[in-house]
Amino acid sequence: MKKINIAIDGYSSCGKGTLAKQMAQNLGYIFIDSGAMYRAVTLYLLENNIDVANEIEISKALDHIQLEFHPSKENNRFEIHLNGRNVESLIRELHIANKVSFVAKISTVRTKLVDIQQQIGANKGVVMDGRDIGTVVYPDAELKIFMTASNEVRAQRRFKEMIDAGKNVTIEEVSANLIERDSIDSSRNDSPLTLNDTYHLLDNSHLTPNQQFELAMSWVNELLD
Ligand code: C5P
Repeated sequence: MKKINIAIDGYSSCGKGTLAKQMAQNLGYIFIDSGAMYRAVTLYLLENNIDVANEIEISKALDHIQLEFHPSKENNRFEIHLNGRNVESLIRELHIANKVSFVAKISTVRTKLVDIQQQIGANKGVVMDGRDIGTVVYPDAELKIFMTASNEVRAQRRFKEMIDAGKNVTIEEVSANLIERDSIDSSRNDSPLTLNDTYHLLDNSHLTPNQQFELAMSWVNELLD
């Protein structure tokens, strides 16, 4: 059966990961969370006291950063390992979210991560979510989806996710972080978050996860028929 790559881009906390995971599971594809890679680089920098504004030190540090995805035992997904250590939970902390967009602006960081992402997708059969997947990483992806939802809905969803994961945060902190990240991610020089007419737009403010899944799969089926 023909395999395609699926790019899912959009603002922070729109449910990109939820949709990507469901689609990958249904199609027997690999799901890759590209944001986890930017978060893991940020974790390394913070743990090694490297200033996220110091591009020279960051470029040097990249030689010491090895990122791998390994299938997790409990759930059907790939978890990120930084230099051999599973950091899937650590990278979800708010102090990482507060710095990650500054790190993601740096071109040497992007070049390294895009290269890994392109290798993963070389043989197709990948669903990847992020900010530049359909524009830079897989510009020839057969299906591109741009997800969006209202600020309130996104803040509520991310807040619940973090509380459920046992993180100590307030909704105001979560909301401020989403607004700041969206603004930095959309305005940076290198690979800003943007969409063009090759994308299907999916506003899920008023859709259940099931409804958005059905809609996205109808686009896949049009391509695979
Ligand atoms: O997807 P997630 O919210 O975990 O991404 C964290 C951050 O990583 C984003 O706010 C953005 O700064 C950066 N990112 C990026 N390009 C991607 C994925 C994430 O710049 N493809």
